Amino acid sequence: MSNEMKALVKARPEPGLWMERRPVPEIGPDDVLIRIRKTGICGTDIHIWNWDEWAARTVPIPLVTGHEFAGEIVELGRNVEGLSIGQRCSGEGHLIGKQSRQSRAGKFHLDPATRGIGVNEPGAFAQYLRLPAFNVVPLPDEIDDDIGAILDPLGNAVHTALSFDMVGEDVMITGAGPIGIMAGAIARHVGARHVVITDVNPARLALAAEVVDVVPVNVTDEDLKDVIARLKMKQGFDVGMEMSGNQAALDQMVEAMVMGGRIAMLGIPPGKSPVDWSRIVFKAITIKGVYGREIFETWYKMIAMLQNGLDVRKVITHRFDVDEFEAGFAVMRSGKSGKVVLDWG
Ligand code: NAD
Ligand code: ZN
Repeated sequence: MSNEMKALVKARPEPGLWMERRPVPEIGPDDVLIRIRKTGICGTDIHIWNWDEWAARTVPIPLVTGHEFAGEIVELGRNVEGLSIGQRCSGEGHLIGKQSRQSRAGKFHLDPATRGIGVNEPGAFAQYLRLPAFNVVPLPDEIDDDIGAILDPLGNAVHTALSFDMVGEDVMITGAGPIGIMAGAIARHVGARHVVITDVNPARLALAAEVVDVVPVNVTDEDLKDVIARLKMKQGFDVGMEMSGNQAALDQMVEAMVMGGRIAMLGIPPGKSPVDWSRIVFKAITIKGVYGREIFETWYKMIAMLQNGLDVRKVITHRFDVDEFEAGFAVMRSGKSGKVVLDWG
């Protein structure tokens, strides 16, 4: 193995990412070294590419970016047990501390000291990634590298979708981005009745309808009240998943919920946004904020569902060789894609 690798680096405080030669990471006693095979481009990576205010505040320069990956273990730290060279894997990109009350209670995803690969720490857009063995998630043979590379955002969708019981319930999803669409697939898989997904982008709604059996609604020209009547629903939606980060979408969701409805909120509004709290109180609505994936319960459930018929493959709309990463980012930034996967060869 040469000591150098290709990596997509945030090298300068301006829009763009740059392919550079970097040293292969050295691993510690509790780490593994993973040879990356496929990576997914995330909305977060677009923020980092664009170098918006959040990225400038959060990301140290220079940094190897990327956090959605599938690969193969090529080196084991001396304390690592239960993993082997050649094991195909994905992994949890949130590096947690083990000192907090939450971690010591086994609620690793609630550790306040969490740091993200590709955001705060060197990431997966590289030929090799160093990862604590604790974070590794082995992939069964049925889950290929393409799906392995999107388990991080699928995990966001699974975490959100399993927040509230959806069996026999009417479910509304705002935002038909890749995560909203995958959440629709999960809602179907676990036995929701009606699954309605909203967006303002016709291309995204068309993709949603192609990937999963959902009712797509373009809220720029269709009224949700008409949709509720058409589906012969009596009151409104029992469970909501906010996956757009758009303030208007949350307002519409609250309006379309039943009394006592439950909303899981994954979407991240830009800065502070006005909320009609009295409406939420008088409708007795529960809102749960969702961050990341439950470590590792979400991963367990996600893999089990994939082995049992959950199909999200069509949400991957574009594949590029990593040397064409600029084309991959361009299609992702156009809003006309689902997930974009880069092949590291
Ligand atoms: P995305 O940006 O690809 O999709 C968002 C979709 O919302 C877009 O298709 C957009 O057209 C649509 N939208 C905009 N305005 C709308 C409106 N008024 N009504 C309905 N839809 C509207 O994002 P994604 O990658 O699918 O992620 C979904 C959200 O989850 C984003 O806000 C993202 O920042 C957030 N996120 C949160 C976490 C977390 O841990 N909490 C993790 C990953 C992503
Ligand atoms: Zn991501």
